Amino acid sequence: MQTKVKMQTQPEAAAKLVYTFGDGAAEGKGALRDLLGGKGANLAEMCALGLPVPPGFTITTEVCTAYYANQRELPEALEAQVDAALSWMESKVNAIFGDAENPLLVSVRSGARASMPGMMDTILNLGLNETTVAALAGNTGNPRFAYDSYRRFIQMYSDVVLGLDHFHFEEMLEEMKRDRNVELDTALTDKDLRELVKLYKEHVQAELGAPFPEEVREQLWGAIRAVLSSWMNPRAQTYRRLHDIPESWGTAVTVQSMVFGNMGEDCCTGVAFTRNPSTGERAYYGEFLINAQGEDVVAGIRTPQPLPEMAAAMPRVYRQLTDVFDRLERHYRDMQDIEFTVQNEKLWMLQTRGGKRTAAAALKIAAEMVGEGLIDRREAVTRIDPLSLDQLLHPTLDPAAAKTVLATGLPASPGAASGRVVFSAEEAERLAGLHEKVILVRIETSPEDIHGMHAAEGILTARGGMTSHAAVVARGMGKPCVSGAGELRIDYHARAFQVGGHIIKENDIITINGSSGEVMLGEVPTIQPSLSGDFEKVMSWADEIRTLKVRANAETPLDAETARRFGAEGIGLCRTEHMFFDADRIIAMREMIVAENVEGRKKALAKLLPMQRRDFAEIFSIMRGLPVTIRLLDPPLHEFLPHTEDEMRQVAKGAGISVESVKQRAAALKESNPMLGHRGCRLGITYPEIYAMQARAIFEAALEADGGQRESVMPEIMIPLIMTAGELEILKALIDKVADEVFAAAGKRLAYLVGTMIELPRAALRAGEIAAHAEFFSFGTNDLTQTTFGISRDDSAPFIDIYKKRGIVEQDPFVSLDIDGVGELIALAAERGRTARPGLKLGICGEHGGDPASIRFCQQAGLNYVSCSPYRVPVARLAAAQAALKSN
Ligand code: PEP
Ligand code: MG
Repeated sequence: MQTKVKMQTQPEAAAKLVYTFGDGAAEGKGALRDLLGGKGANLAEMCALGLPVPPGFTITTEVCTAYYANQRELPEALEAQVDAALSWMESKVNAIFGDAENPLLVSVRSGARASMPGMMDTILNLGLNETTVAALAGNTGNPRFAYDSYRRFIQMYSDVVLGLDHFHFEEMLEEMKRDRNVELDTALTDKDLRELVKLYKEHVQAELGAPFPEEVREQLWGAIRAVLSSWMNPRAQTYRRLHDIPESWGTAVTVQSMVFGNMGEDCCTGVAFTRNPSTGERAYYGEFLINAQGEDVVAGIRTPQPLPEMAAAMPRVYRQLTDVFDRLERHYRDMQDIEFTVQNEKLWMLQTRGGKRTAAAALKIAAEMVGEGLIDRREAVTRIDPLSLDQLLHPTLDPAAAKTVLATGLPASPGAASGRVVFSAEEAERLAGLHEKVILVRIETSPEDIHGMHAAEGILTARGGMTSHAAVVARGMGKPCVSGAGELRIDYHARAFQVGGHIIKENDIITINGSSGEVMLGEVPTIQPSLSGDFEKVMSWADEIRTLKVRANAETPLDAETARRFGAEGIGLCRTEHMFFDADRIIAMREMIVAENVEGRKKALAKLLPMQRRDFAEIFSIMRGLPVTIRLLDPPLHEFLPHTEDEMRQVAKGAGISVESVKQRAAALKESNPMLGHRGCRLGITYPEIYAMQARAIFEAALEADGGQRESVMPEIMIPLIMTAGELEILKALIDKVADEVFAAAGKRLAYLVGTMIELPRAALRAGEIAAHAEFFSFGTNDLTQTTFGISRDDSAPFIDIYKKRGIVEQDPFVSLDIDGVGELIALAAERGRTARPGLKLGICGEHGGDPASIRFCQQAGLNYVSCSPYRVPVARLAAAQAALKSN
């Protein structure tokens, strides 16, 4: 082991790499967060406020970046700067690092720009060795305390710096307690602890073939390097990936003089929040533990006391502490999460940071802080993570509940649900009819499973990505869904699935968490959502700020009602095909598909017309006064094909043709690549009678539901999967012709728009020509992502995760818009479209319409609205407000 630190000569050697703080002064300040990390910046800020902070210094994040850029060599200038800062600290606390009489002890901690709780390493009590521990014992008159600190230090240092598993040290401690016949650590005497220290050191020597470092500078540099190295530990890497924290930020290292909460009964250590982090209530909240060090609170060996009890235990210090809470809250204008220690009745602040909180607490705190004049409405709106609103709109898992995770798939639709496993939509419906809660488990779902999905509490699939049928439909229904759980081996025949060592049979109970993707054994308790007045208040502020409109993707009256209740300003996508899967309709639909000629098709379409008209009239009535975009039939016809003999016979009878013809027709309609086959407007071109029927149903329903004036119906007819201007020209003419016929027969006209989806790269590139025939564009980013990447949206799950882990893509492009690629196509289409037709209305209706990062892009690209599933509408309203604030 080296005592001299190996340094490398570098040009930036003259840069300031170390900032001191303490004793009412600080070289750094809060604004230097990027350089000092959150912890270092806030310690500096607290010093500047005159709060009692133990003196110390922070090594900047630039050192961390240089460390990794130079094969883990430290900048040459660092050693002298650390020495100078250490001397400054020594003078402030009147103690000397490694001194035989009055030794200085320090803590060494990590601190990145964004908080990464518990992800990186910390070392306490550094500076203890055989000489200094004796001095500490003598000076405090408390040898037990001194040797307890020493054994903790050896354990922590050996684990973090020397890479020895702390488990062995804990075993030695347990054995010592067994041997001495005591239960608590605190019952061990100083003699016991001295012996334990000896055993610990022998263990280190035996494992490493070198002694535990006695030299305090060697300890310090070992710790600094270990903290820098912990930036790259797998735990920290995963956390960064999950929270979008760039690797390039690096961590700062804070070295601070130790204060002790375990020196007697007039000492304590504690953690506190300035408001309740789970409810948001304005009350001090936290815990403290008398005669203890921070790790005792975390380790849970002794039970800490609730903070308010400190008022009786240490009244003077408690008053001082709550005064500090109030000052910090006023200063940061936010709820703070605080660590403190009291050493012999003197209060020391060790940390403050913005406290993590539930969505309910975030709303309450933001709303109340506006009332208290601490922040304004705009600030309040930025304080809430839009995605956290899911916690308020869906049931969540009880965080305290135990769980056995069987598998993890994609978090396809948020919320948690438990129920009996069923493998078919029919069984789901049957059991739900008997008031049983069920989870529908399928390899993948298809439109025919809708009734089962509707009956189920949640949906679990082994295949399919974030825009798979299961995911899209479940989000629309507001039901939890885990998709693409590839570890599941589902056997429909055996009515069971295998996963890991478990076999789960039909009727067994499982729980799914669509917010995390976890599949769990048995029933895990959930917490039901509730909406408070604070929610309404903050949402109304968001509405005042945002410029993007928010619509919903909805195709049933229930969806439309939910959408309106959540504040949708129209429907941005009504997928008409979802309306064809009802029991009677599917038969008429199949008759239409298998018809051998136009006449046969028209006969079947005539049966569908009144049903569609009824659907549209209902939706138009619910959405009176707001625009409703109805998309004409999109999916490949083969999705509607009859499968079983029974279904074939039924269709043959209805259509008046032979079963053999039905079979032949079904075989002829099979495609090898249906997503790129006979679908979208291609159906409208080849079978114009389908689109004509749909247009007629829309116009007749609009006339029926129209309430005039402010209650008017505003239909927008949307053509899917356009690739050339020619397709749109033909289909727009067809729709206009139907409109003329319907309005002439009724003797009344209504305003309507005809527009198109932009879902193919060619359509985006040729947007100028297409805009000549389109009164609006709606970007169908599910298909546009699929066709731009050339990745099937239903088959991406198995490899996208690997791509994410390896950093090839940062995000699943089906979840968060690929701004560089798909985004460029959108920007280009928007620009070309608006050049050809100034004022062209632009929207997005792919799943990205409910994703905050994608919404930010939509704002920048100048879109007029986003459209998302009804339960995402509040998320989108808030995200749109934040996007507007950002763009200002
Ligand atoms: C899209 O492609 O983005 C879209 C909204 O249509 P669908 O998901 O129905 O293909
Ligand atoms: Mg599409």
